[in-house]
Amino acid sequence: MKSSKAQAARWLSRLIQREQIDTLDQPAEGNVFLFTIEGFCERNPTFFICRKTEGLGIGYHSSAKDPVAVPVERHLIEWHVLESATAQERQERILNTLVATIRARKKQYRTCQYCSGKYAPEQGSGQKTCYSCGAPRSSAAF
Ligand SMILES: [Zn+2]
Repeated sequence: MKSSKAQAARWLSRLIQREQIDTLDQPAEGNVFLFTIEGFCERNPTFFICRKTEGLGIGYHSSAKDPVAVPVERHLIEWHVLESATAQERQERILNTLVATIRARKKQYRTCQYCSGKYAPEQGSGQKTCYSCGAPRSSAAF
């Protein structure tokens, strides 16, 4: 399994080739591109890059209202920053920001004390128990 950074680099380079998300030549608003990390835990964490009027918004999907994913934006790279950079610098900058977002998001994950599975804090049933282990246990108590 490739590292998250390698997966992100591959996805981003294809995305830039296909959609030119790093320049203002394309319409600035209304495009959201999703990226999923594989091999990290059972429910693959999802990240996004969103083209906005101000720049590129980068963040992750929280599943607090499962099955509805809630976008949480963590970074904004403004257009003027991208416009003054070369194509390679733009790609590096976006990748570094995406990788920082992925690292920060992964740190939020906890390990379940029963099944040892990783889960996002909003998917848990308390500090040490994932939702699937927490639900049957609490109903068994009655
Ligand atoms: Zn569990």
